[in-house]
Amino acid sequence: MSGFVPVSINQFVKQYIRNNKSADGNVVRLAVEDALAAWRQGVRCACGKPIWVAGSAVAGYGCFFCITGSKEPEGDPEINEACGEFSFEEIEREAGFAQVSKIITEHPFDYLDRLEEVGFEWHDDEYDLLFEEEVKEERLAVPETENQRKIIDFLETGGPVTQYTLDAYLGERYSDSINIPLIRKYFKRANSNLKAILLYALEINPTDPDLLDDLSYFSEFDGILGELIHFYTDACLKETHMERFSLLAQDFHMNTVDQGYDALQALFSLFPTGEKGVVIQHLSDTIDDYEGSEDFFF
Ligand SMILES: [Zn+2]
Repeated sequence: MSGFVPVSINQFVKQYIRNNKSADGNVVRLAVEDALAAWRQGVRCACGKPIWVAGSAVAGYGCFFCITGSKEPEGDPEINEACGEFSFEEIEREAGFAQVSKIITEHPFDYLDRLEEVGFEWHDDEYDLLFEEEVKEERLAVPETENQRKIIDFLETGGPVTQYTLDAYLGERYSDSINIPLIRKYFKRANSNLKAILLYALEINPTDPDLLDDLSYFSEFDGILGELIHFYTDACLKETHMERFSLLAQDFHMNTVDQGYDALQALFSLFPTGEKGVVIQHLSDTIDDYEGSEDFFF
């Protein structure tokens, strides 16, 4: 077979660590991402040809010919984006990348689940690999900044939550250099001090969708569905801006539907008429359409 075999970054990392047992998946992944970023920026091999992203990740930046000494690739892997085939699929994939990075920014701690919600399907082994990597990252994560030390100190020792604690949490959550695995492991442990920060923050900002998302993620490990429902309902009552209300109602639905709760029905009994009623009616029409569409074919 001549030419490259297009592979995803996940596939490449998986293949590579299967063949190189001592390699660290995280390190390989970062190296591939770096090489891909370099390729996107037009970095070339010393000989002038475009770099071979997959090979450059493990052998240093170079083209296929300079790295392998072979005349042409024969079934060698290359990251699909760099295979150079421009197709409709490619455009869709690009749109996918934008969506993925948006989701990771908005849901730093629980992006794996979020990606699934919007229809990304992991193969079991891919998902396991990502999950294992998460666990490994979490085990290795240590506070690296003064702010992270402040947060971890509070999460470990507790005490009354103050504005100082909250500022540290929010500062980290919205930081460009957020230490995701460090904080995420406290979510996974359902750390009660972390919960105290979230509840304190929601008391001040009851309609903040990001805080409610964080509480939803927390509830996956804590099993506090009733409490989550209470906070979302309260937020929907308090939110007066219709666009933000609509987003809250959607989040409420998304974050509770798996546990069997019908948020839209509950909201509809709360707001049978008026502006909010119209929003809920519209949401329940469109969400039902979406969910029911598969049934049509069977
Ligand atoms: Zn070269």
